[in-house]
Amino acid sequence: MRLALDQAERAGGDVPVGAVVLAADGTTVLGAGHNEREATGDPTAHAEVLAIRRAAADLGEWRLSGCTLVVTLEPCTMCAGAIVQSRVDRVVYGARDEKAGAAGSLWDVVRDRRLNHRPEVIEGVLADDCARLLTEFFRDR
Ligand SMILES: [Zn+2]
Repeated sequence: MRLALDQAERAGGDVPVGAVVLAADGTTVLGAGHNEREATGDPTAHAEVLAIRRAAADLGEWRLSGCTLVVTLEPCTMCAGAIVQSRVDRVVYGARDEKAGAAGSLWDVVRDRRLNHRPEVIEGVLADDCARLLTEFFRDR
């Protein structure tokens, strides 16, 4: 989560959310990302999507089986969809997103029993640090 927080701090003028994809060994970083919507003008450039794309490119394989996605903020519906599609085994997130979260708060897309892939979800890791970054960002706006 410290690595994901480092990513979040690099988001520049974008909402500070960071993500990393760890290989099955739990330590090798396959992909990392932070929000780049403002930088790229791409509405899908969320930290999780970018980290997943980079991890898949690194592996040369779209299936991220055995991998763990670590992200500072609870994933939205789009990212939850990307998580299910990528087949990561585990999602670890920091702060909950009560307004748009899709991994336990508003929805629970990643653990929906109707889907054929349901990763394990661990929430609340360094939640205060993750939330503080966001609170400070929005307070300064
Ligand atoms: Zn998202």
